Amino acid sequence: MSGLTIENVSMRFDLPNGTSVQALKDVSLDIKEGELMSVLGPSGCGKTTLLNILAGFLAPTEGRITLNGHPVKGPDAERGMVFQQGALFEWMNVRDNVSFGPRMAGKRERDWGANVDHLLDVVGLRDFKEKAVYELSGGMQQRVALARCLANDPDVILMDEPLGALDALTREKMQGLVLRLWKETGKTIILITHSVEEALLLGERLLVMAPRPGRIHEEYRLPFADEGV
Ligand code: ADP
Ligand code: ADP
Repeated sequence: MSGLTIENVSMRFDLPNGTSVQALKDVSLDIKEGELMSVLGPSGCGKTTLLNILAGFLAPTEGRITLNGHPVKGPDAERGMVFQQGALFEWMNVRDNVSFGPRMAGKRERDWGANVDHLLDVVGLRDFKEKAVYELSGGMQQRVALARCLANDPDVILMDEPLGALDALTREKMQGLVLRLWKETGKTIILITHSVEEALLLGERLLVMAPRPGRIHEEYRLPFADEGV
C-alpha cells in the first residue's frame, strides 16, 4: 500500500509535576502518495506534535503510522522535514548544508554532486553556493532548507510553518516555489501553516485541527486552480 497512513494516533505528554497534556486524541488519516495537504488550526491543537510523529521524532502513546505499508519507527530519509527556521548549519556554506544528508549517508560526491548543484539551481541559489548561511536573507535560508530536504530524496516532505517567519513578498515567492516543486516532483507534501490564505493556496487538501484535545475538526478537498505560479 502506498502513501502515509495514520491510525488512531493519540499523544499524551506526561509532565514532571504529575499532570499530563493530551496533545492528540484519536487522529486517523490516509495521505495518498503525491498529495499536497496543508494543516491549519489554532496554537496548541497538536499540529507540530502530529508532524513530529510523522517524522518519527516522537513515538505516539497510541496508534500507528505506516508509510507505504511499513511501520514508521523513527526518523529516516524517507521523510524529510523543513522547519520554520534555525535548523541549518549557519557557519557552513550553502552547498555543504544541502549535501549534508547524502554525505552523512556515506555517499561520494560523484553520486550527489550533480543533484545538489541541480537543486541549488532549482531554488535559485546557484550564485550563493559558497556563501555561509548566516550571510543570507531569511527567504534564501528557507530555500537552502528546502534544497537540503530534497537532497535526501524523501518520499514525504513535512513542513512546519516553513514560511511563517518571512515577510509577505518573500513568502509569496516561496509559496510559488513550493507549489512548483510539488508539481514537478510529485512528492507528498504536508505543510503546517497559520495562514488561511496559505492553506488555501498550498492545499489540494486542507485539514483543520481543533485543540483540547488535538484532533481533526474538518477536512476539505479543494478544486485546484492551476494558474501560472
Ligand atoms: P501546535 O503546533 O498546534 O501549536 P503543539 O503540537 O505544539 O501544537 O502542542 C500541542 C499541545 O501539546 C500543547 O498543549 C502543548 O503545550 C503540548 N506539548 C507539545 N509538546 C510538548 C512537550 N514536549 N511536553 C509537554 N507538552 C507538550
Ligand atoms: P528572498 O529572501 O526571496 O531571496 P530578498 O528580498 O531577501 O528575497 O532578496 C532579494 C535578492 O537580493 C536575493 O534573491 C539575492 O539575489 C539578493 N540578496 C539578498 N540577501 C543577500 C545577501 N545577504 N547577499 C547577497 N545577496 C543577497
